[in-house]
Amino acid sequence: MKLPAFLNFITFLFTFAIGFSQQKEIQIKVHHVSNNVYMLVGQGGNIAISAGEDGVFMIDDQFARLTPKILKAIKTVSEKDIRFLLNTHWHGDHTGGNKNMEKEGAVIIAHENVRKRMSTDQFQKRRNRTIKAAPKGALPIVTFTKDLNFHFNGESIYAFHVHNAHTDGDAMVYFGSSNVLHMGDTYFQGKYPYIDLDSGGSAQGYIDAIKKALLIIDDETKIIPGHRNLSFKTELKEYLAMLEEIKINILTEINAGKTEEEVANNIKLTQKFDDLKYGDWFISGEAIRRTFYRSLKK
Ligand SMILES: [Zn+2]
Repeated sequence: MKLPAFLNFITFLFTFAIGFSQQKEIQIKVHHVSNNVYMLVGQGGNIAISAGEDGVFMIDDQFARLTPKILKAIKTVSEKDIRFLLNTHWHGDHTGGNKNMEKEGAVIIAHENVRKRMSTDQFQKRRNRTIKAAPKGALPIVTFTKDLNFHFNGESIYAFHVHNAHTDGDAMVYFGSSNVLHMGDTYFQGKYPYIDLDSGGSAQGYIDAIKKALLIIDDETKIIPGHRNLSFKTELKEYLAMLEEIKINILTEINAGKTEEEVANNIKLTQKFDDLKYGDWFISGEAIRRTFYRSLKK
């Protein structure tokens, strides 16, 4: 083995070892957001709970293997039962614990398309893999198409659907008195969004979803994104401006007859935002240019 190859191999082993130890040591951190509302961060989508006299209302549940840790974390806030679990969309890093939560007695709720997608095998072109249908106990048993209200823990908890954004089954949840909005994966704070075109997501729908969120919130609202850090209105407005600028840039290329490869290779189209580190994760500048191209070309 030549020296550079050997060094690469050592780096690989080291990265693998770190990845493995992180996997073993995932902690569920509980952050108080406002009034009864808490955000739980572990691995996968951010969880929100409302904990009060009526019990626990929960949004998303990460992965099945984390359920014991998540339940322990919830217990530090409330001894009461988990009455409701709402899924913001069907992806496994938000619904993986469903079956366990159903066993805990939670009633699982989601948009109708979440149940539809979880009920059958789903092929994801991007990753070239099939995700098996979820077992019966993991499926939402209450579904809605537009919106619904919970009157729980002294406030109104309003869940509403946004069309073809991150997927075709996204819901946001607004805690009225606490003034907290959970946006699910219609918001990846500080990074380019993953828009799941194979699951009915779209660039325009993603932009429209954020516009809808902005109509509901005010300067004091605390925003829980699907992934990453707690956020607020001015930051979400900047995020929207970023997406709209990229949309215009890509549309101009499409109208000029450019191919997907030309757009994928033209770093200038997202350079300004790449420099702000939006692409420093699994959705790179190239990935977001391709996503917008494919979505807007239709
Ligand atoms: Zn997702």
